[in-house]
Amino acid sequence: MHYHLILTDQCNLKCRYCYEKSILDSGTPSRFTYDFSAPSTFSVSIERLKRFLEKDENPIIIFYGGEPLLELEKMMKIMDSLDVPYRIQTNGLLLDRVPREYVKRVGRILVSLDGDRDRTDHNRGEHTFDTVMGNIRTILPWYPGEIVARITIAQDCPDICEQVQFLVGEGFRSIHWQLDAGFYGFDFDERRFAEFVEKYNESIGRLVTFWVRNLEKGNFLRLYPFVGIISSLLDGETTRVRCGAGHAGYCITTDGKVVACPIGCFATELVAGNLETHPEDLKKFDVSGRCLECVSRDICGGRCLYWNKTRLWPEEGDNLICNTVSHLIRELKEVIPVIEKMISCGVVRKEDFAYEKYFGPEIIP
Ligand code: SF4
Ligand code: SF4
Repeated sequence: MHYHLILTDQCNLKCRYCYEKSILDSGTPSRFTYDFSAPSTFSVSIERLKRFLEKDENPIIIFYGGEPLLELEKMMKIMDSLDVPYRIQTNGLLLDRVPREYVKRVGRILVSLDGDRDRTDHNRGEHTFDTVMGNIRTILPWYPGEIVARITIAQDCPDICEQVQFLVGEGFRSIHWQLDAGFYGFDFDERRFAEFVEKYNESIGRLVTFWVRNLEKGNFLRLYPFVGIISSLLDGETTRVRCGAGHAGYCITTDGKVVACPIGCFATELVAGNLETHPEDLKKFDVSGRCLECVSRDICGGRCLYWNKTRLWPEEGDNLICNTVSHLIRELKEVIPVIEKMISCGVVRKEDFAYEKYFGPEIIP
């Protein structure tokens, strides 16, 4: 099982779609009841964490925050004590402070970058792009694992194709993106978001073409939303919510609760147990409402458990979000014959589309 482990709720950035919106959203009524009593930093004894993880046959820890590298000492202590695979989701600003032997032990690094310098700095603050890219270039020559660029697509920035192409030009081979849509109660404007969806869908169409052309040249770009969906289409696989929240992945809070999703870590309705619960006995969650009757559900899985349960946007907003999902699936279904042909000719292998599920890329943006 994959476990997001919250090392701290503090962050050293104040991103437009996270910090700013959290403040603006504080008055939105919620369907959840919240318990904010957990301490700000991870306060569970390593022995207690160890006893819990020992009961799991295949535990994988994803360091998470806030910004997890603000608690570097604690992170290294955990790594010194527990021999499990590690992943991290970080903003990358402090990567240069992590000793090389610890960086090497983190098998996959998800680093937040929204595309080019202007876009990243506009969303995440001045000089963010150069600092993060500088840190990544430093580790690239000796880092043996996977670095995944994680793009947040803000509602005024639908140009996913251009931003992915830019990051590919900077040397990224693995990229994931998520839409900042449906996660706050106050930020839906039907006309504005409909315009976004139209432009974003058009951009996705161009990105699929770009990706397939690269595949044809033997250049396998691990664009996670594409790889995850194509992998399922090739295997005839049906899926539950693809991030794994509440069935294959959980979040360990700073006080040792185990909850379905790191974004909803304060919601009492999402608590699945605690570190004394056997991993197999953790409460399971599934999507409900609109997803149950949806023809895309087998491939989509329900996009996001948190979004599905909170229902912060009105129905017309969720319809537009689902329009992006069904458009993405349709575009990828259309290229399946081309991909199957490439597999039969040996241009790519079916195994290339296999990937580690649940370590961070949610697959459905
Ligand atoms: S497309 Fe929308 S309604 Fe359908 S399964 Fe996905 S999230 Fe649910
Ligand atoms: S996709 Fe949604 S449910 Fe899954 S981890 Fe992200 S916020 Fe949580």
